[in-house]
Amino acid sequence: MPLYEYYCEHCHGIFEEIRQMRDASDPSPCPECSREAPRMMSTFAAFTMRDGYPRRIPDKGTFWHMGKEVKQRAKRMKGFEHPELVKPKSRPRPGRGDIAAGRDKALSQYSEAGYRDKWGVDQYGFGTAKTAKRKKNRKTLGG
Ligand SMILES: [Zn+2]
Repeated sequence: MPLYEYYCEHCHGIFEEIRQMRDASDPSPCPECSREAPRMMSTFAAFTMRDGYPRRIPDKGTFWHMGKEVKQRAKRMKGFEHPELVKPKSRPRPGRGDIAAGRDKALSQYSEAGYRDKWGVDQYGFGTAKTAKRKKNRKTLGG
């Protein structure tokens, strides 16, 4: 005989029942409160989202999140993702703005360095080896 799933609204839980196929759509008594529990339908996934996370009866201490069994209720969720069901994400890649900012910075550093080199001045304003060389050349030309 096939196994069917029933949902007890009173206990906020799901339980399985082996039944004749012809009886499957009939409600089944809940193992905890003996109330009539309706059979779970395929639309249950949407229903779970709205109503929270029903537990399994007999209670294994697990919860159900969008048709998947999870150990804990989701405390913090991004959308409908349960932390136990989400694969660890790779570190966030820099956004377009960050990349552009980094490129601008590199570019300005490069041009600054080029500027300093052109005038033979280091970052503190002192003459570099190139300046010394140039002065020597000037002396030769002038003399
Ligand atoms: Zn019940």
